[in-house]
Amino acid sequence: CGIVAYIGYSEAFPILINGLKHLEYRGYDSSGIALLQKGQTTNIFKKKGKVKELERYCEGKDMTGCLGMAHTRWATHGEPNDTNAHPHVSMRRLFTIVHNGIIENYGKLKKDLSEKGYTFYSETDTEVLANLIEYMYVQGEVLDAEQAVRMALSRVVGAFGLVVMCQAEALKLIAARRSSPLAIGIGQNEYYLASDATPLVEYTQRVVYLDDNDVAILTSNSFTLKTIDVDKEKIPEIQKLELS
Ligand code: GLU
Repeated sequence: CGIVAYIGYSEAFPILINGLKHLEYRGYDSSGIALLQKGQTTNIFKKKGKVKELERYCEGKDMTGCLGMAHTRWATHGEPNDTNAHPHVSMRRLFTIVHNGIIENYGKLKKDLSEKGYTFYSETDTEVLANLIEYMYVQGEVLDAEQAVRMALSRVVGAFGLVVMCQAEALKLIAARRSSPLAIGIGQNEYYLASDATPLVEYTQRVVYLDDNDVAILTSNSFTLKTIDVDKEKIPEIQKLELS
């Protein structure tokens, strides 16, 4: 239902929590955060209930990381609980994902992946997508995480606004959308991502709204825009956010 992500040189956690609070008006049943620090494994924290519950759960824990993503969930597949909350992680823990929307063909994809030995811990359509991306990646037919994401999304029927982190390519965020909004805030050697511009205004006035089928690849100092089907760079159209 709501997405926030950050890549840069600041601590991601306060930015993510703050962003989630800005998205609370959308309504949700659970929330979660994933943080990644270079050379370390991805840490995931998720809780049923309000963002306050998540914040309380995170108190006293190591929340360091300059790369991270957060989500408020409005359950469509699987009841609202800690396990079904996002972020979701693939079986080998290579990919972490937050997702808004519905993967309509998740049943078929899940069956195919199960036959290839994949197991699932949640009831969500999102976890299936995390594993489809990982499957594409470990198959070795793609060069990198970006190609794995684009390849996986070309097999997906449904709506998505999503952000992906790859443990093996730990200094980038990959974002994509189809029928579910996603905006990228451009900072100084840092980028912010959100499902609408409200969490972005206090950090930057320069925003790019992704179009349907766009895929954005962000490092702390580069922004590459492509589409799911075409492996060619597009020029992002930067808009000025009006402060209200
Ligand atoms: N379909 C996903 C789920 O049920 C995402 C729901 C949402 O947009 O929050 O977990």
